[in-house]
Amino acid sequence: MVTISMLINGERRSAEGGASFERRNPLDGSVATIAPAASAADAQAAVEAAAAAFPAWSAMGPGERRGLLLKAAQSLEARGEAFAAAMAAETGASGMWAGFNVHLAAGMLIEAASLTTQIAGEVIPSDVPGSLAMAVRQPAGVVLGIAPWNAPVILAVRAVATPLACGNTVVLKGSELCPATHGLVIEALQEAGLPPGVVNFVTNAPADAGAVVEAMVAHPAVRRVNFTGSTRVGRLIAQTCARYLKPVVLELGGKAPMVILDDADIDAAVAGAAFGAFANSGQICMSTERIVVDRRIADDFVARFAAKAQSLPLGDPRAGPVVLGSVVDMATVTRCNALIDDALAKGATLVCGGKAGNTLMPATVLDHVTPAMAIYREESFAPVKAVVRVDGVEEAVATANDNEFGLSSAVYGRDVARAWNVARRIEAGICHVNGPTVHDEAQMPFGGVKASGYGRFGGKAGIDAFTELRWITVQTTPRHYPF
Ligand code: NAD
Repeated sequence: MVTISMLINGERRSAEGGASFERRNPLDGSVATIAPAASAADAQAAVEAAAAAFPAWSAMGPGERRGLLLKAAQSLEARGEAFAAAMAAETGASGMWAGFNVHLAAGMLIEAASLTTQIAGEVIPSDVPGSLAMAVRQPAGVVLGIAPWNAPVILAVRAVATPLACGNTVVLKGSELCPATHGLVIEALQEAGLPPGVVNFVTNAPADAGAVVEAMVAHPAVRRVNFTGSTRVGRLIAQTCARYLKPVVLELGGKAPMVILDDADIDAAVAGAAFGAFANSGQICMSTERIVVDRRIADDFVARFAAKAQSLPLGDPRAGPVVLGSVVDMATVTRCNALIDDALAKGATLVCGGKAGNTLMPATVLDHVTPAMAIYREESFAPVKAVVRVDGVEEAVATANDNEFGLSSAVYGRDVARAWNVARRIEAGICHVNGPTVHDEAQMPFGGVKASGYGRFGGKAGIDAFTELRWITVQTTPRHYPF
């Protein structure tokens, strides 16, 4: 069990009145973490600290900011074992998933470091004689980042790295489900030597999330918000941000379709489907949730996919290496057991896995899923996957698009031109031809459409999101006026 602090103005802080909350291990219920339960006043103090640090940080040269972000990447990587222990204790994640998180998150800090010299502007031809007109990108101010538990290192780093690179100061609101894991990210940033107040960290009890978030969004110093999490909470945050006219990047839920055309390399499709469906027990926003397979090859694909799914090791990640660890809570198990019951009652076939009695959920595949079943459209966010059989390309595209979400997707087919044209028609922010739906790289424009949110993280798209684009002119000759 660990007890953690918040970070405000470079100081470790407890919450007003010493209030705290617990995070328990999902598998055995033991207390994993005790964390401060911030009040609205604590949250506002974090914003004030960030606002006070903004003038110096935004004026710092790009080389110095770059050096600090590169050091932060090293500090993060040095904490690999601590991250694995914290993630296993708080969310039941496997060591493999923790290692991938730390690796990609360090890459995001390195990429952010490289962006410090890429924040470019433009000189725009003016019709006013002698007017030198420029589009200039400037830091926006304080950025509030809100990150979830499922890819905790990646998503906490993503919430702050590009904003910092652009010269903003930040407040990270940690997840109630993994406060110690998010706290380790903050520790790594502090160890790198970021000045006090440049990065601040707030944790809150679950019941206080709405009030704590609103207290920060409402603060005039907060100029950008980014939120990664469920579509349900994303809608609430969008409403709060609208009330205070704060621009927000929303990275929300997904129901990624993987389309397998009749000419697909079935071995490649099985490997991509298994990775995309079962990495982190399916608890990734890009997880393959719907396998849309052409009927002509479906029997062959499903048999090989089931064999692969059944071979994946499942167990308590604290006891040794596994592919499937514990899912995050019993609510996930209850939700998925109901999805399985509903699908079977409406004619689906259980190919492997099945209902679980605790948070160690097996890789589960349901075949012959139809639109009448809840699992056809609802995000399982767990290792319970739907196979939908279709006839031909048109039905495959229509099925892939028959969903409110639109984050990631994939198309498998040997005729790459045909697969590309299918990819172009899929309503999703991301699509991979002959690659899995789960794929993230720091420099890529990452984000969704439809109920998966709006705005983009990653590379230069992140610069657009976390800077203010201003029009500044210099009149270089006497100006002519009409009167
Ligand atoms: P969640 O929406 O339940 O919680 C995320 C955050 O929202 C937490 O920090 C929580 O404190 C805060 N929150 C909760 N209620 C709030 C309220 N009323 N007002 C303001 N804030 C509130 O999400 P989760 O269950 O932790 O994460 C899983 C979801 O996130 C899945 O749907 C998944 O697809 C999505 N996700 C999306 C991406 C992406 O990049 N698009 C990445 C990872 C996860």
